[in-house]
Amino acid sequence: MIEMQDVWKTYPNGVNALTGIDIQISKGEFVYVVGPSGAGKSTFIKLMYREEKPTKGTIFVNGTNVSELKNRYTPKLRRSLGVVFQDFKLLPRLTVYENVAFAMEVIEKSKREIKKRVMEVLDLVKLKHKARFFPNELSGGEQQRVAIARALVNSPGILIADEPTGNLDPETSWEIMKLFDDINYSGTTIVMATHNREIVNTMRKRVIAVENGKIARDQHRGEYGYED
Ligand code: ADP
Ligand code: ADP
Repeated sequence: MIEMQDVWKTYPNGVNALTGIDIQISKGEFVYVVGPSGAGKSTFIKLMYREEKPTKGTIFVNGTNVSELKNRYTPKLRRSLGVVFQDFKLLPRLTVYENVAFAMEVIEKSKREIKKRVMEVLDLVKLKHKARFFPNELSGGEQQRVAIARALVNSPGILIADEPTGNLDPETSWEIMKLFDDINYSGTTIVMATHNREIVNTMRKRVIAVENGKIARDQHRGEYGYED
């Protein structure tokens, strides 16, 4: 489902963010990506949804060679992936409903179809009752749940998250993590960069540790392994 073969990333300023990454992630897996700050976690994740292109190497996502993907095909790729960020990235002038519907409107689904699916995903994240609210009327955890609903609205096979609990208190972080776990149970592959040691050590999923641009560790039912 996701495969990287000898992937390198050097930024224009000369920083070698990733140096020879080989990895395979299968359908239905739940993977935590851990490692010190500056290790290359975000770069690793950005390559998957083609926010960045590799300097060298091959990346397959859902059978598409992302490393060679023409710019005009990136919107299509992004719809087969859901992405969730630390800072939510909701559109402040749109309601919860509209934020989630937006991703379906751009692919010209019918109004009826959109409404049905938006209410379905808002139900999944337990926010149907706040469909008419604006992002600034919601707590951080609720905003992240909207972002998750938005990421899921087009039924992607893969959900990618970069520090999704980084701005949330421990209790809310657990709620969000349980939601990811439920989504994974229903078959969606999840790749999540995180600094949350307690969660990684409790959930016992696959752990890929990135250090200094390399995969330092790849464990089944792994642990966080850092003291930060
Ligand atoms: P992490 O997510 O583990 O903190 P990153 O992937 O963000 O690591 O960064 C890896 C390295 O690449 C760091 O040295 C960082 O400063 C550098 N880097 C990240 N993004 C850019 C960029 N857009 N331009 C130049 N250097 C970058
Ligand atoms: P259900 O019948 O499944 O409970 P509703 O259609 O009653 O769903 O909508 C539930 C919530 O979502 C209500 O607050 C409703 O106002 C809001 N909502 C539904 N459709 C839209 C829309 N197109 N734009 C904005 N809010 C909507």
